[in-house]
Amino acid sequence: MTTGKKLLITAGPTREAIDPVRFLSNRSSGKMGYALAEAAVRAGYAVTLVSGPVALPRPDGLAEFVSVVSAAEMADAVKSRFSSADGAILCAAVADYRPVAVSPQKIKKQEGNWLLELERTEDILAALGRMKQPRQILAGFAAETEDLEANALAKLSRKNLDWIVANRVDRPDRGFLSDDNAATLFGAHGEVKEFPLMSKKALAKNLISAIFG
Ligand code: C5P
Repeated sequence: MTTGKKLLITAGPTREAIDPVRFLSNRSSGKMGYALAEAAVRAGYAVTLVSGPVALPRPDGLAEFVSVVSAAEMADAVKSRFSSADGAILCAAVADYRPVAVSPQKIKKQEGNWLLELERTEDILAALGRMKQPRQILAGFAAETEDLEANALAKLSRKNLDWIVANRVDRPDRGFLSDDNAATLFGAHGEVKEFPLMSKKALAKNLISAIFG
């Protein structure tokens, strides 16, 4: 069974190089994004998965798999594919900052402190929000440690999204490295759907049908 529709999904962390052996990254495992890709394939979508570095097997049945490392690479991969997609869910934990300069040589340790200057990376989700056509559905995630609903709703409108999946990342039984997650899905037209703690695979199936169903 195919829907004839194309979905673009991002997953995992990005890595921002400091020098040839060091980088800045985060705790994202990629499990939620990979579960979304698998659920979307099972629901009959042609899925392009753009993934940062993760230790997960590549899901079966993808239309395309794009492996990226940095936020800039992810931005290029996603923006160049969005116009041909019917929808996108951006689940990747993209680094918000990267070193201003990448040293070509390993930086030697010295006496005293090291101040590393960082600059903002591009917000890929916000860029897609600006590119979005009326036929396209755009969803993002809001991983929050406080004021979940207010922060999620602010992101929904600021980034011009149709849906935002809000989840707490300050509890050890869910989020980032866990196999389980709970979430609240907010829609641009005031919809609110609560998903209690369940496996990321089960949550992914629910989210795909709620957002694109
Ligand atoms: O603003 P915040 O980073 O909390 O937004 C999270 C959402 O935005 C997620 O869907 C994430 O994939 C996306 N994002 C992005 N590019 C960034 C930062 C976040 O696509 N540079």
